[in-house]
Amino acid sequence: METVSNRAGTPSTATLSLRALHKSFGTFPVLNGIDLHVQRSEMVFVLGPSGSGKSTMLRCCNRLEEPDSGAIWVEGDLLTGPGVDLNKMRQRIGMVFQSFNLYPHLTALGNVTLALRRVLKMPRAEAEAEAMAALKSVGLSDRARHTPAQLSGGQQQRVAIARALALKPTVMLFDEPTSALDPELVGDVLDVMREVKEQGMTMLVVSHEMQFAREAADRVVFMDGGSIIEQGPPDRFFAAPEQERTRAFLSRMR
Ligand code: ADP
Ligand code: MG
Repeated sequence: METVSNRAGTPSTATLSLRALHKSFGTFPVLNGIDLHVQRSEMVFVLGPSGSGKSTMLRCCNRLEEPDSGAIWVEGDLLTGPGVDLNKMRQRIGMVFQSFNLYPHLTALGNVTLALRRVLKMPRAEAEAEAMAALKSVGLSDRARHTPAQLSGGQQQRVAIARALALKPTVMLFDEPTSALDPELVGDVLDVMREVKEQGMTMLVVSHEMQFAREAADRVVFMDGGSIIEQGPPDRFFAAPEQERTRAFLSRMR
């Protein structure tokens, strides 16, 4: 892997930095040189058509996919390249997926506790106390002993968010967190995300919730064909998109 291996030139103020990220599957280029810098406590919203590389970009950020070239930093620490402790690195980058990915045989509390025990090697009692605090922060204290099957989709997704938050990550990545939910359950998950932002979390969010983007995002990034086509503050982005491809996408979403 061709990787920028020194720290020189790292944008020192960005909490998450992606630089010249390239990724192909076979001969098909999926990321064509992504440059993206997310500042502390910023919520950056990523929009783009299906297949534009949004998930691949997020997955590269915690090395679920290996970029072919380019570099990613968290608070100035290089994540890409050899010799990175993947476990430690993933603790700093929380990820929430469309599909929740909870263990079905464990309770909500069990799911969050397990992450703390596995990743942070926390003793059981301490892990359970932390897990309860995390569940409380997403409004699920009273559902701690329920298994995923006993929870609504929205509650399951809030457990997944609690599990990620419990590890006290530096950055949270969300990949279409509400896409699998019935419409009436979307609002609760977005409310939790808004609270996470208000606590000062740095967030990179892929979602088609345009209204939420307008209200909550600090910046909107539009991707197409593996490239960032344009970006800007939501007011400007939605009212006056500059690129034809962005306008075409937004008109299809309305
Ligand atoms: P998005 O999230 O914007 O819909 P993805 O990042 O999931 O886009 O996918 C971008 C492109 O990469 C798509 O054409 C998809 O089919 C392809 N792709 C994604 N993952 C793989 C993989 N593991 N193997 C081969 N092709 C993949
Ligand atoms: Mg995707």
